[in-house]
Amino acid sequence: MNTIQTIKLSQVVSDFLKEEKKLFINGEFVSSTDGKTFHTLNPANNEVLADIHEASEKDIDRAVQAAKNAFENGPWSTMTPLERGDLIYKLALLIEEHKQYIAEIDSLDNGKPMSELLENDLPNAIGQFKYFSGWASKLVGQHIPVNGNFLNYTRHEPIGVVGQIIPWNFPFMMAAWKIAPALATGCTVVLKPAEQTPLSALYLAKLIQEAGFPKGVINIVNGHGENTGSALVKHPSVDKIAFTGSTEVGKIIMKEAANTMKRVTLELGGKSPNIVLDDANVEKAANGVFAGIMYNQGEVCSAGSRAYVHSSIYDEFMERLVSLTKDVKLGSGLQSGNTMGSLVSQEQKDQVMNYIELGKAEGAKLICGGKALDQGCFVEPTIFADVKDDMRISKEEIFGPVLVVSKVESEQEALERANNSAYGLGAGIWTQNITRAHNMANRLKSGSVWINCYNATDPASPFGGYKNSGFGREMGSYALENYTEVKSIWVSLD
Ligand code: NAP
Ligand code: MG
Repeated sequence: MNTIQTIKLSQVVSDFLKEEKKLFINGEFVSSTDGKTFHTLNPANNEVLADIHEASEKDIDRAVQAAKNAFENGPWSTMTPLERGDLIYKLALLIEEHKQYIAEIDSLDNGKPMSELLENDLPNAIGQFKYFSGWASKLVGQHIPVNGNFLNYTRHEPIGVVGQIIPWNFPFMMAAWKIAPALATGCTVVLKPAEQTPLSALYLAKLIQEAGFPKGVINIVNGHGENTGSALVKHPSVDKIAFTGSTEVGKIIMKEAANTMKRVTLELGGKSPNIVLDDANVEKAANGVFAGIMYNQGEVCSAGSRAYVHSSIYDEFMERLVSLTKDVKLGSGLQSGNTMGSLVSQEQKDQVMNYIELGKAEGAKLICGGKALDQGCFVEPTIFADVKDDMRISKEEIFGPVLVVSKVESEQEALERANNSAYGLGAGIWTQNITRAHNMANRLKSGSVWINCYNATDPASPFGGYKNSGFGREMGSYALENYTEVKSIWVSLD
């Protein structure tokens, strides 16, 4: 393990870690009604970071009632759009002020490097609140010319109380992706973070208080999915569930939500292809494919986990790809200079190692990596070659730093194999030919296509899945549709 200089924790973070980690309901930090708590661990050393109050069904009911009251009766319901936008922007500025602390908390809780948090997760999260603060005052309907002597127009109204359930791979950023558009539309929120990374959302709750949001507009309730999450999905006063997580849990939520006819949007898993054509800039492509899978330890829903590389450039590409693994500095996310942190948990490490063993057993060729460190939840960047489409390591989401590579003979073969997946979240194309690139982009079945780049996102541009990667789009104007109902109003002019 790498032992470069350790970042000393800020005093604010040390103090925060010592505070009791309660539930944030109706603008206040409150204890769980049954007194239950659970641990959150630092995956770099598996030590306990804090005990977290766990929300029971009763607590979920309290949070939902608070959100309902805030939606129907509280000052939030009568605030002007500009006032709502101002509050969201104020929160963005507070997050900016506290970004170092939030980054330290997420690095401790999730294991990822500080550099990634400060260069990606935090700026992205701040961008969400800034971007959506502007939308609060721009939610316009239509005036529709209809037959007869009528005035007909539409209103885009907030759905109501929104339950939001998020994963652990970008703890703070995922909370921002969910909360910002919901607030812009005027909804109120009950957010359940992942049990592995409950801390940064509680820090956000402090900033929500400081920004001066009315009571009950945003409630944050930690706990396990099967209890806390499920109680939120079942609650009859929750009007919509916005979920990011695994396809398996997404299916459970969709079925359960049917009982109360809740609106549902699902951002789920992926097995995204990265296609390198014969005319690609091989150096750029190797760098892009490498970052596309290894970024955030491969714990990215849109990770480019399958590469299809043309035979004419295959050897040069592989040589460059493998040499990039040698530059990776694997170690604690809080030590500066480390470029890859630990996976989020022992369970995740076991899952990834099981897939690596499976890949060997299935007959794929292990090119590099493949080992875990003894201490903490660290797994080396790993590359398999000679991978066949029917191997499980080619079909299933591993959610770790494991790339599977296949050699292809043509553009058509690459396209067919890329689309031969149950998932459809992202896809990459590496070519210098603009016509080929656009034709392929049109034919790839995925919610995002990146040409000569990978995993670019922006608060203004939509992101989401085809097929088993879910439905609904986060970010951009498209995200507003997740949180609004359209009302058609008719006025007789006779
Ligand atoms: P997960 O196991 O599906 O959990 C996601 C969230 O759902 C957690 O908060 C979890 O709570 C909760 N949950 C679990 N069971 C539930 C139930 N029965 N009812 C209600 N909530 C329940 O996923 P994960 O392992 O945290 O995250 C990794 C997955 O997320 C990957 O598949 C990845 O591809 C996907 N992901 C997708 C996107 C996207 O935008 N498409 C982005 C990031 C991640 P607990 O943690 O307490 O169990
Ligand atoms: Mg943790």
